[in-house]
Amino acid sequence: MTDCDMCGKKESAQFDVKIEGTIMKVCSTCKEFGTPIQKPTSMFRTKKRVFQNPDEEKEIVQEYSSLIKRAREKQKLSIAQLASAVQEKESVISSFESGSRSPTLKTAKKLERKLGIKLIQKITSEGVEIEKKEFKPLTMEEKILAALKKKQEGNDK
Ligand SMILES: [Zn+2]
Repeated sequence: MTDCDMCGKKESAQFDVKIEGTIMKVCSTCKEFGTPIQKPTSMFRTKKRVFQNPDEEKEIVQEYSSLIKRAREKQKLSIAQLASAVQEKESVISSFESGSRSPTLKTAKKLERKLGIKLIQKITSEGVEIEKKEFKPLTMEEKILAALKKKQEGNDK
């Protein structure tokens, strides 16, 4: 602990407040003179994912199993031939086609190239949009209306 920036009380500074635009470390008495620095609350933290890697915005399409199987049969490839073309085990290709395992993006890209199909799609951000609406701050007009309503309710009593 450091000394209070306001009154200089020894080892008492434990609050971060903003006083006239300056952030100061002050004691419990002096914190009343400043505006507490708001730490973001979890309520306003959106769940929007931050994508470090552009590949994380993509996912494998749901119908990958039938797409792979149909494209492979159309090209008259055996599972073994397709497996060697994309450097995977036959058992892995079989599990893709049965839908028991979804390909990684890396393998999906190889399959797309080999089979001429689309296996990767962009992740939709619908969920994120809804959250943004929920946490939309009130406009000044809404604040005034809410305040007026509150006042009216008070008068009715
Ligand atoms: Zn103080």
